[in-house]
Amino acid sequence: MANSNLNDLRKLHELLRDLKSVQDDLAKGPRLVRVKVQNTEQKQADLEAGKQDVKACKMLADQKTLQLKTLEAKLSELQGKLNQAVSNREYDILRGQMEADTMAKSVLEDEILETFEKIEAAQGRAKQLEADLATAKQEEAAMRAKVAAAEPGLIERKAQLELAVTAAEQFLPAEPKLQYRRLVTAHAADAMAEVTGNSCSACYVSLPSQTLVALRSGEILFCRTCGKLMYVGIQA
Ligand SMILES: [Zn+2]
Repeated sequence: MANSNLNDLRKLHELLRDLKSVQDDLAKGPRLVRVKVQNTEQKQADLEAGKQDVKACKMLADQKTLQLKTLEAKLSELQGKLNQAVSNREYDILRGQMEADTMAKSVLEDEILETFEKIEAAQGRAKQLEADLATAKQEEAAMRAKVAAAEPGLIERKAQLELAVTAAEQFLPAEPKLQYRRLVTAHAADAMAEVTGNSCSACYVSLPSQTLVALRSGEILFCRTCGKLMYVGIQA
């Protein structure tokens, strides 16, 4: 009876650990998918911002091109007036205006060239962002497929382990079993603690020799410090 208890306790803890591991794997899948979904959403937002940037640069170029056309029309108008100038004074005033406008035109032309370069750079960035989004979507789909493929097997394994745990718990007398079940609900596999050396491996408190003897003889005992269901390992 005593030795059988020892083996049953060890086996029970092993099954609880396996069950915990499967539960963790099941919970991990949706988390991994969520991370990929968030990444796709971020890349989508980056691309939208990139497209807005291209749009803004193009609008600026259009505005400046319009300003240039207006300035060119004004210059040709001034040229016409200059050709018909009747006095030196009028001529000088018109020449002065034309010089200032020609200078402004040259500045505007440089600015337009700069804006075209900005458009090209923004278009390059947007193209890269589009490629990044496509990659993110592919990664998300691959993760969804991977998680979905693993899930049925994990669910089946979980059901098997739950049955095995229930079967493995049968040796526990009713009263300690209730306490043990409460611990499992709260701590899963950490409901149980192996005794390593002379200590409880959950809280590291040294156990009185009387307790160690009782544990080795297969008594069902909970740690007085951390409350876990204790058992002696094979080497202890
Ligand atoms: Zn303890």
